[in-house]
Amino acid sequence: MHNIDIELVEMTLDVMKYAINRITNTAPELGKPKKEEELKALVGETITAQGIGGEKAFQLFRDVLVKATVPIDHPRHLAFVPASPTRAAIMFDLVTSASSIHGAYWMEGAGGIFCENEAMRWLVSLTGMPSKSFGVFTSGGTAANLSAMVAAREFWRLKPENQHKKGIILTSIGAHSSVKAMAKVMDAEVLLVPTEDSLHAIDIEKTLNALSQDEKNRIFGIVATAGTTNAGIIDDLEGIGTLCKTHNFWFHVDAAYGGAALVADSVRHLFNGIEKADSITIDPHKWLFSPYDCGAVLYRDPELAKAAHSQEGSYLDIFKDEGAQGFNPADYQIQLTRRLRGMPLWFSLAMHGIDKYKWAVEQGISLANLAGKLIEKAPQVELVREPSLSCVLFRRIGWSPDDYRNWTYDNHEKGFALVTPTKWKQGDAYETVARFCFINPDTTEKDISDILATMV
Ligand SMILES: *Cc1c(COP(=O)(O)O)cnc(C)c1O
Repeated sequence: MHNIDIELVEMTLDVMKYAINRITNTAPELGKPKKEEELKALVGETITAQGIGGEKAFQLFRDVLVKATVPIDHPRHLAFVPASPTRAAIMFDLVTSASSIHGAYWMEGAGGIFCENEAMRWLVSLTGMPSKSFGVFTSGGTAANLSAMVAAREFWRLKPENQHKKGIILTSIGAHSSVKAMAKVMDAEVLLVPTEDSLHAIDIEKTLNALSQDEKNRIFGIVATAGTTNAGIIDDLEGIGTLCKTHNFWFHVDAAYGGAALVADSVRHLFNGIEKADSITIDPHKWLFSPYDCGAVLYRDPELAKAAHSQEGSYLDIFKDEGAQGFNPADYQIQLTRRLRGMPLWFSLAMHGIDKYKWAVEQGISLANLAGKLIEKAPQVELVREPSLSCVLFRRIGWSPDDYRNWTYDNHEKGFALVTPTKWKQGDAYETVARFCFINPDTTEKDISDILATMV
């Protein structure tokens, strides 16, 4: 399996050719899912006693299976949070795999962890947190939020009176679903402040005032969102940070999507107060042009994260030995064996420089503002709210939820665009609306106006 042979060399050339073509193709085919039975009928048995051969397996992938996927970097993929990894980062993702480095402990991964740490230092510097703050790359925002919330609860449980209590996390309904999902994993309660617009300290105070003393005592942390996934809204981080200090709550900022915009001078002020955070989530695989998967969790005091996450085991002792000294990413998040998933970001940053990232993120914001202007001009659509970061919520006047759904499927079916509806809370009611999220700096004005033209 590990010997070099001619078939493998030819395969490698084929695969590299495919990879190079794919990453230089700025408008790849917008694939569509098929039913599993259909795919099975098209490819047949692939796992057999003798193997079907690399050429055949690769051909099935290239000619059939990849066509049943949506390229997240398509310039008219404006749904969910799309992505647009740089070519440099993708190339270096291949290098990362080829290098076979274990990323959990310095003893094995020092040179690779060094790269990750350089990129991490840059992320920390964007936040304005104190200099001893630091973090690690995770599989994504979900794992980063869980790692931070576990660190928060462990810190709270240092107080003997909290040791057997069920903790409560306070956040808003605009928070990402992963906050609730991860609270379930760690068996914490979640209290939702009912605002989808920017969460302010005063909203939290109101919610706190309605609680019993016992409930108040069980709150161990507040999760603010810096760039809601649905609408790009940033909570009042300054006010919430101050409130957390007063009440001794852990202050976590979920900036999985929006955190990239810390680099953008035009909106940096919206994040003021983020430097007060005890922990922050940022997903480089969303708006920092890294390939999947790459999230990050940053801690004000990394020692508290270490106390929560460091794993003990006789076969792991050597890693903690003096001789192995160095930074061990495994100690600061939920995962042990890990890919050095921060390396592609490091390489791309080193190659292109920070200014290029600034430009690319500003481009997403400009595209959202441009879409806002085009929507205001077109008679059939109107803005639901002003664009925020790179998100735009708008309505097609007179459309029902079914109309939005059919429109989504229709554009996808044609291989033209992937734009999906979402819901927006108006008072007590939820309205179905359309949503753009811009990440790819290559999306054009024509892409936007062509999509709007499909709504007439
Ligand atoms: C996307 C997102 C997450 C989840 O991140 P994954 O990388 O998908 O696990 C969490 N919070 C926010 C605000 C997000 O936008």
